[in-house]
Amino acid sequence: MSGDGSSDSLLDLEFAYTSHQDSCRDLYSPFYYCRRPLGHDGVHAAGFGSGRLRWRHDPNHPPHMLS
Ligand SMILES: [Zn+2]
Repeated sequence: MSGDGSSDSLLDLEFAYTSHQDSCRDLYSPFYYCRRPLGHDGVHAAGFGSGRLRWRHDPNHPPHMLS
């Protein structure tokens, strides 16, 4: 893995132990938001298994996909 703390097994654990209230919630799309703990290092991530997504927040292009 890339060593940035975003391996699938670690993300599974983080998601399991992070409540919605304590999650980062950076938006990837209206359907996916970051499930990692608030203030995490590395990439944002959402989803499980084959639906797993990772992304980096781009401060120059904030997501505004929710109307
Ligand atoms: Zn995040």
